[in-house]
Amino acid sequence: MLEPNDVVGILGGGQLGRMLALAAAPLGLRVAVYAPEEGPAFDVAALRFIGSYEDEARLEAFAEACAIVTYEFENVPAATAATLAARRPVRPGPAALATTQDRLAEKRFIAGLGIPVAPFRPVDASCDLAPAVETLGMPCLLKTRRFGYDGKGQAMIRGMDDLAPARAVIGGAPAILEGLVPFTREISVVAARGLDGAFAAYDPCENEHSGGILARTLVPARIAQGTAQAAVEHARRIGEALDYAGVFTVEMFVVEEAGGERLLVNEIAPRVHNSGHWTIEGARTSQFEQHVRAVAGWPLGDPSRVAPRAEMRNLIGDEAGAWRALAAEPGAHLHLYGKRDARPGRKMGHVTRLMDG
Ligand code: AMP
Repeated sequence: MLEPNDVVGILGGGQLGRMLALAAAPLGLRVAVYAPEEGPAFDVAALRFIGSYEDEARLEAFAEACAIVTYEFENVPAATAATLAARRPVRPGPAALATTQDRLAEKRFIAGLGIPVAPFRPVDASCDLAPAVETLGMPCLLKTRRFGYDGKGQAMIRGMDDLAPARAVIGGAPAILEGLVPFTREISVVAARGLDGAFAAYDPCENEHSGGILARTLVPARIAQGTAQAAVEHARRIGEALDYAGVFTVEMFVVEEAGGERLLVNEIAPRVHNSGHWTIEGARTSQFEQHVRAVAGWPLGDPSRVAPRAEMRNLIGDEAGAWRALAAEPGAHLHLYGKRDARPGRKMGHVTRLMDG
């Protein structure tokens, strides 16, 4: 268990690292950030390390400065995690990273727990694609197994003419083909597991995307109570099977059928998540404080909501230009990440509103 004034190491210097560092401060914990270049987390970290994820000497110096190491992105190279894990506890552990970095390993793991996922087939070489499409049927989605996010590294296949362009999108990388799920909603469960195995989940959130990027999160999700309970139970079982420590997020599809709502798990993010940003003002313990507590070996905090409803909107690219109006709006909780350059598609900040009814 970490003591006050101990240092939590965070790999990655983005907005998630920034919000983790801000949440660690009231607990009396200090943060060291490691990233290849300066980013939003560097403004609020006690210790800053700039180095590549392959720079062993720099990683060792970082590990020496920390009591434990965590991360704010899931594409941490396995060798980097191993270098750090040889010196300090890495939480969540390298096994959880390995499973969630590879969409195929992840889908097999989830299906192995008896939790429904979209139908899928591995596509290891481009000659596998046509037979896989024939087996699954169209429409279907081809995704790279690794390093995909925000809809990147994906191609929709609706007809045989789409096969060649889809191959070009993934560029010969190992891939997974998934049946297209006719979902009515996308939801996520942000949950935490403590070092002692304690589990705490936030209410399932409903997520709306635009151009493959999260645009808006609503809490609670507009789903039946039984569906919400089943979603949390899926997350609990996934966390347990991964022997997880920290906050993680399970993204799911809700399909409406004659018999009611059905859940399919899409993916697991082994970290705090954009769909959990509403918890900063909307829950008794934010996802960031919860993650710090979990990886520090502290008791988990109360995840319950403080308002009947909450809405979080991302400020993407130019949208952050509305900051003056948002700052003037009563009840709007504005967060800006300190990024200088408002490129299209870049997450510049978010705003959360709590609602009574
Ligand atoms: P992912 O990178 O897997 O999170 O996918 C990004 C987005 O693509 C998801 O949030 C969904 O909107 C959509 N998507 C991914 N997989 C499927 C699927 N099998 N069926 C339908 N939509 C999907």
